[in-house]
Amino acid sequence: MIPSDILIPFNKPYLSGSELHNIAEAVSAGKLSGNGIFTQRCHRFFEEEYGFARALLTNSGTAALEMAALLLHLQPGDEVILPSFTFTSTANAFLLRGATLVFADSSPEHPNIDPAEIARLITPRTRAIVVVHYAGVACDMDFISSLVSQHNLILIEDAAQAIESYHGSRRLGTIGHLAAFSFHETKNISAGEGGLLAINDNQFAERAEILWEKGTNRAAFSRGETAKYEWVDIGSSFLPSELTAAFLCAQLDNRLRISKRRLQQWNVYQQALAPLMSLGVKLPLIPSYAQAHNAHIFYLLCRSPKERDLLIHHLRAHHILAIFHYQPLHTSPFFEHAYTGPPLPNTVYYAQHLLRLPLYYELSEEQQVCIAEQVLAFYQQ
Ligand SMILES: *Cc1c(COP(=O)(O)O)cnc(C)c1O
Repeated sequence: MIPSDILIPFNKPYLSGSELHNIAEAVSAGKLSGNGIFTQRCHRFFEEEYGFARALLTNSGTAALEMAALLLHLQPGDEVILPSFTFTSTANAFLLRGATLVFADSSPEHPNIDPAEIARLITPRTRAIVVVHYAGVACDMDFISSLVSQHNLILIEDAAQAIESYHGSRRLGTIGHLAAFSFHETKNISAGEGGLLAINDNQFAERAEILWEKGTNRAAFSRGETAKYEWVDIGSSFLPSELTAAFLCAQLDNRLRISKRRLQQWNVYQQALAPLMSLGVKLPLIPSYAQAHNAHIFYLLCRSPKERDLLIHHLRAHHILAIFHYQPLHTSPFFEHAYTGPPLPNTVYYAQHLLRLPLYYELSEEQQVCIAEQVLAFYQQ
């Protein structure tokens, strides 16, 4: 619910065109459960356009991460390296499978995982590295991929925020063995709730399809590859209904328009707020390898935690909803007692200083100018 005195919300879901038409078509096709025509259309789109060996729609980005964790066959004591500055699902998926979580700090220049930290944390028990492309901005994948092959690890991209983002000529989500995308309402491309498991290494494809269909070989059966379908492995109900897939199809059809607009909006903020840099306020740093990004988030790094709180209040008083982001997982109420590693100062810094400004398709340039004016006015006081 948007509070009634808020004129500019932080996010607003967007209908790109044919969502309702697609849903009506799914209803008249007479099959609403998963893996129907719209699900298969989405899969084909991702396999052809993105080049994934296999794409499987899921109920959420969380579910896609949980499938990735299941595919690793983790044993007790196996270590998974991941950032502390991320959403709980990045960690929960692996904790649910009994992994030992090894939290890495963010880079000093931007909120993504610091590759030098990963190198420091690898042990003989390390099985996987999970990177998060924060704000749709690529992690340093050349360096991280070389660590992965040197130590024979599995690389998983939490690309929940990173649809239509690139690392040079490669799309994010195509670089790791596995990747998870989210189509939550707050993401650039949305289905309300939804996600995608992307499989780049074919060794995982067959089992992924079984986990996805409650541990059965139903998908192979429906293609006529087996005479009956049976219980063949563990699994769960990871697949979304056709209603979700129908909605998502419409958004995917419009992805280029959505990305283009968001990038325009991101650049409006970047230009309008550039004068703050001389005061010591930081704007997002996009490393040269992280082009092109998808403008998922525009953030400021305030000079102190106190200043950030005052700026949030100032904007709120002017009917603009700006919000902070992740609190560190390694010092969270749930995990702090289990955390035995060193302090992660950069993670704590982003948790305390980062402020996200409203960014959604229907946000107008006038509204953006008004937001930027209020931020500048705050710093002129
Ligand atoms: C949104 C998000 C998720 C979870 O995706 P859901 O679809 O909400 O389950 C996981 N990781 C990151 C980094 C996210 O931003």
